[in-house]
Amino acid sequence: MTMKVYNTLTRQKETFVPVEPGKVKIYVCGVTPYNHPHIGNARPFVTWDVIRRYFVYLGYDVQYVQNFTDVDDKIINAANTENVSWDVIANRYIASYFEIMDSLGVKRADVYPRVSEHIPEIIDVVQKLIDKGFAYVIDGDVYYKITAFDDYGHLSGRSLDDMQAGARVDIDDRKENPMDFALWKSAKPGEPAWESPWGQGRPGWHIECSAMSIKYLGETFDFHGGGSDLIFPHHENEIAQSEAYTGKPFVHYWLHNGFITVNEEKMSKSLGNFFLVQDITKHYSPAVLRFFLIATHYRSPLDFSDERLSEEARGLERLTAAYETLTYLKTLSHDGPSADSAAFVAAAKQAEADFIEAMNDDFNTSLAVSALFNLAKEINIYHSKVVSEKSGNDARAVETVMTCYARLADVLGLKEAFVSNTTVGADAELTQGLMDLILSIRAEARQKKDWATADKIRDALGQLNIIVEDSPQGARWKKQ
Ligand SMILES: [Zn+2]
Repeated sequence: MTMKVYNTLTRQKETFVPVEPGKVKIYVCGVTPYNHPHIGNARPFVTWDVIRRYFVYLGYDVQYVQNFTDVDDKIINAANTENVSWDVIANRYIASYFEIMDSLGVKRADVYPRVSEHIPEIIDVVQKLIDKGFAYVIDGDVYYKITAFDDYGHLSGRSLDDMQAGARVDIDDRKENPMDFALWKSAKPGEPAWESPWGQGRPGWHIECSAMSIKYLGETFDFHGGGSDLIFPHHENEIAQSEAYTGKPFVHYWLHNGFITVNEEKMSKSLGNFFLVQDITKHYSPAVLRFFLIATHYRSPLDFSDERLSEEARGLERLTAAYETLTYLKTLSHDGPSADSAAFVAAAKQAEADFIEAMNDDFNTSLAVSALFNLAKEINIYHSKVVSEKSGNDARAVETVMTCYARLADVLGLKEAFVSNTTVGADAELTQGLMDLILSIRAEARQKKDWATADKIRDALGQLNIIVEDSPQGARWKKQ
């Protein structure tokens, strides 16, 4: 089955063909670390985490690079306000970024290049652009000459006239064209600055992503991602810089995620609907927030509201409950295969096929989640047949379905949430082992009609918010 991805560059779904067979190379524009991550930051990184996990699931060797823009006006302003060095601010919020994204189950990138650590690479690219006639120097500043690059405007679909009409009035009349953008800025007092052939200064915003992506992924790579607000000018400028520098196509597929609105209003600090992830997770678990982000296709706009979050929390609970049911079914006696268990395994195969079909259609996580819900329904049907109708349990079928369910949940990054909910604390295996031991002691007590001991164990577990349910198939436990 072929995979289709929506390419912003061509405005259509295209068949994915990797640059190098078996490999996928991804660059995603990271954060400017001057504040804690907000919900709008979380969306691209959770989206790309799922895409990356899916490629790994398909057997690809994935290389994932995401930068930190640690040299930027916003960081310098924050540093001046607090009267600390710029790198104090950057390091503080880079640490916050990792803490938040780890909590959301976002796997770490292979490399997190920082601008401040790649100044020589950036200078090399700028110098070559000057040498090739794509850039010019004025008073220690270096500008990219957009009219030198024929394809300028291709990604965003804008003509030069559109851009100029849409741009803020640029008072710098030293530039050849008002749309020419800075590759290098001469030093101003109190700002971080590095030596360069054009004097002391620092890089402009866009050049870092060209220099750092090419360094780690090569001159042409598969995917470049980010929010749709980055299409123009950031990604448009990245293409102009990179392709002028290498003379080769820069990126094959440009993927952009949609905006997040809050109660159907654009999210902004001034509207007061600006949500930091750390504030949201005081009310909802990080797993619920992650589930909310992937339950909608990445290109669609996503509206954040309490109702939606509560809805997704209930959805995630249903999926988790199905996982718990599988854990429980595994503890029951094995009665061998049956027509019911064969249908059960077939349902899991169907769910996996539907999941793959959804993900191969431009990473449609919304439909992939539906496939998981369908399988959860089948798990409940099988469970009620075994427990209520007393049809036999097929331990091997349960194992097969559970492996499949966990594998698909893991692509979406939800498996950890299932496991941590089923068990107490992080050490899932140890907890499961201890619970098995406790419940077997209780079962022995019950067999000997030692009700006092059996009740004592149940009540003590109750104190720990662990509920024990007895059934003809044995005891089952869950967290309250
Ligand atoms: Zn970038």
